[in-house]
Amino acid sequence: MKTPMQQINNEIAYRAGVELSVLRLDCLHPLVNGNKWFKLKYNLLEAKQQNLTTLLTFGGAYSNHIFATAAAGNLLGFRTIGVIRGEERLPLNPTLSFAVQQGMQLVYLNRESYQQRHTSELQKDLRQRFGEIFIIPEGGSNLNGVRGCTEIVGETEAFDIICLACGTGTTLAGITLSLNQKQRVIGFPVLKNGGFLTQEIASLLENYLASGLPAPNNSPASWELVCDYHLGGYAKVNDELVIFRQQFEQTHGIPLDYVYTAKMFYGVMDLLQQDFFHKGDRLLLIHTGGLQGNIGMEERLQRL
Ligand SMILES: *Cc1c(COP(=O)(O)O)cnc(C)c1O
Repeated sequence: MKTPMQQINNEIAYRAGVELSVLRLDCLHPLVNGNKWFKLKYNLLEAKQQNLTTLLTFGGAYSNHIFATAAAGNLLGFRTIGVIRGEERLPLNPTLSFAVQQGMQLVYLNRESYQQRHTSELQKDLRQRFGEIFIIPEGGSNLNGVRGCTEIVGETEAFDIICLACGTGTTLAGITLSLNQKQRVIGFPVLKNGGFLTQEIASLLENYLASGLPAPNNSPASWELVCDYHLGGYAKVNDELVIFRQQFEQTHGIPLDYVYTAKMFYGVMDLLQQDFFHKGDRLLLIHTGGLQGNIGMEERLQRL
């Protein structure tokens, strides 16, 4: 599967002397796309190897991961169970009604129990309730997820700097492992106070390298986080972001999602204007997908 790559002609980048390309993971497949496909890939293969036919995973009510798991499960013949944070709200939002259409069974956990999702007690309860299940953590954020993400960019010398939005940092870890020491990865956390991710990413990388899983590069690229572009926090938007997203799509023909990619692209454009990059830098911006969430977000924006 070859991911479409596209160079964009942008005035701000041109003035900064920087080349901009976009890796369109949003175009991989109509339903199973973005970084979530890469994070699922080795989890699904492991489930198959263990002869487990039911996948259970966790997410919020607008989760891209829930959407992708439901669709991938349906395509590849797994039964799927989605454990959703919070109370059931009817009618179901577009993300959850899609998941149900794909055959996913939804279960709701109040916020307190949901906090326990990583504990063996809760997982034992779920196994008692649903039988033989393969549990995928929220967001597909485990070492299988990192492994899949080493295949997003692959080994390439064509870029100096790779930029992407971060939730858990799993995708950043995988990409970092696939690049070489001369390259730099810049992550843009979409959560407020995203600095906590530094430690999480460092331990993901450490655990991955210690795991014996295939690592394309033993001396990976350097990476850093730019934490100033969460614009109020997770799934928060302001007028400036809404306008930026719309203008970006009009100018470049690339739709962005509000929660992740619009914030990263906004951040990169702002940094270009501050001469954060060097003349001649070749940047690759990863479009990690997430467009399914725009329907729900736009419904919310209209109600404001
Ligand atoms: C989940 C998601 C991310 C964050 O990925 P992490 O590996 O958790 O950092 C980024 N962009 C989009 C569109 C996503 O759905």
